[in-house]
Amino acid sequence: MRRSKHRSLILASIPGKEAMGCDLTCQTMEGLSTQVTKASKIRTFSNEAVEYFSYSRIKRGIGLLIIVVAMMGIGLIGTSEATEIPLAKVAKVNKLQMLSANSFGTKDVVFAFKENSRVFMFKKILMPLGFPIIKRYGRYYIDNSDYKSHIKPLFPTTQHNYKKIRVIALDAGHGGEDNGTTAKWYKLQEKSLAMDVCLRLAKLLDRNGYKVILTRLHDKKILLPERTQIANRAKADLFISIHFNSAPLSSASGIETFVLTPSQQASSYEAFSKNICRSFVGNAFDALNIVLGYCLQSSLIQQTSAIDRGVKHSTFTVLRDLKCPGILVECGFLSNREECKKITSPAYRDVLAQSICDGIIKFNDLLSE
Ligand SMILES: [Zn+2]
Repeated sequence: MRRSKHRSLILASIPGKEAMGCDLTCQTMEGLSTQVTKASKIRTFSNEAVEYFSYSRIKRGIGLLIIVVAMMGIGLIGTSEATEIPLAKVAKVNKLQMLSANSFGTKDVVFAFKENSRVFMFKKILMPLGFPIIKRYGRYYIDNSDYKSHIKPLFPTTQHNYKKIRVIALDAGHGGEDNGTTAKWYKLQEKSLAMDVCLRLAKLLDRNGYKVILTRLHDKKILLPERTQIANRAKADLFISIHFNSAPLSSASGIETFVLTPSQQASSYEAFSKNICRSFVGNAFDALNIVLGYCLQSSLIQQTSAIDRGVKHSTFTVLRDLKCPGILVECGFLSNREECKKITSPAYRDVLAQSICDGIIKFNDLLSE
């Protein structure tokens, strides 16, 4: 609430300055604050001598007073955090070139975006933002929280201070009376397919030297908060939940991964709003979650050639209270006949497991400690 109020005040107070962007505006504010102090002294002197002033001098005094009040307002606003950053500035600071009107990067790293949209691509993987990219006076702006939680963590130069992964909690979705979705053409249930991929993945991770914890070993219903607690009690360094998708529209297909919605951002299927202020235990890992999401999603899309549905945000219960980075992967649609057929093949489920394993190794390589 405070953030949006401040933003509208900035725009209302300095007409014509919007195109400068909040970061630059803040620098301007600092200059104005100094002037406020000087102007205040003038106003004090004027008040002492007011009875000797002519009418025109009083008018000038009132005018000055209005300017001082306006400047004080601007000075106060200037101390608040900038909510938007010009994309050109992001590119310059990080030594990226504007490659086209809607992309910037280097030979190896390309970010692409869409005007008035949350669509944002990093190296061709869809990484939807919390807020839309906006255009004002010919310049593009990104929300500051999107820059911090989304863009900056993806820069190859960004250091990720987190311990190397040792213990991984694997969570096969659903179980027991909760079947999840069903592959109607093959009479297969999501709970069994998720368990199958988890077991294949566990073997691969074990071979690569990781310790694996399973939140369920049998066809048993485990409550969602309990799955998180199992991972936390085992002091897991990473949490991976495996699911399969379904949609009323049978044409829907592809793979998507979910990370916990970063604090102060809207979930992917929620209208964006500046008034959202959530905070879960898992939000301590917002930046790492995005990197983990990219590593797994890119590995899955490269190796399966499935449609990329992106790294999305959700406040899923299993992700909320994790004391480590975590992700929920929807490995494909059982409601799409073609994709479902692929998923029923053990060889394809091997590819799914191998892609997730490779994504985890890629993520682990980026960790500094
Ligand atoms: Zn599921």
